[in-house]
Amino acid sequence: MGRKFFVGGNWKCNGTTGEVKKIVSTLNEAEVPSGDVVEVVVSPPFVFLPLVKSSLRPDFHVAAQNCWVKKGGAFTGEISAEMLVNLSIPWVILGHSERRLILSEANEFVADKVAYALAQGLKVIACVGETLEQRESGSTMEVVAAQTKAIAEKVSKWSDVVLAYEPVWAIGTGKVATPAQAQEVHFELRKWLKENVSAEVAETTRIIYGGSVNGANCKVLATQPDVDGFLVGGASLKAEFVDIIKSAT
Ligand code: PGA
Repeated sequence: MGRKFFVGGNWKCNGTTGEVKKIVSTLNEAEVPSGDVVEVVVSPPFVFLPLVKSSLRPDFHVAAQNCWVKKGGAFTGEISAEMLVNLSIPWVILGHSERRLILSEANEFVADKVAYALAQGLKVIACVGETLEQRESGSTMEVVAAQTKAIAEKVSKWSDVVLAYEPVWAIGTGKVATPAQAQEVHFELRKWLKENVSAEVAETTRIIYGGSVNGANCKVLATQPDVDGFLVGGASLKAEFVDIIKSAT
């Protein structure tokens, strides 16, 4: 199928300089499958991006956790896509549920950010996912399709997008989706892409799973045909992140 396995580590708002150096040295020493088999991207907080970028092994890459929706300027506290490009940061995570829910980022706003970041030359990990209430009321696909549709309407360069399915109820809760639950939504998302974008985009776009992935549950999730990798939060701060990278093979 040719979709290279993708493992992202989302460090969220965690870390001190000392802790960051320790994680980087663990990653640098790890024996992992080659870059032909797995693409690894770690996403430290903005302030640590230069440190991580300059000290991380060259076969791993870095991502920012967010960026501003348009050209920089008078937007106190924001970081622009241009700044990330200027620092040669190749990736950015956009639409994470913590930003959608805690900071009220709406579908359109996330889509505008994705479009702007892509236009500046960044590659985007675009996150979608339903809350527990939405899952229990049977609207999972409706919700993730609406989130994906908003993005799809503004994206032309799908080769620079990784879609992350992250059910909100699974994030940081220890309640990982079952392999069948993950596969079902990934399959439906791929079908949505086929019907609404193109067969080629559906076939080639990596759809990764996020939500309580750890060293123990990653292997069986990785065997699902439509799971092309992971976006990992808590476990990406620990040595077991290496085991998650190894689940690519
Ligand atoms: P978690 O977070 O692995 O800690 O559940 C995943 C994420 O928010 O990307």
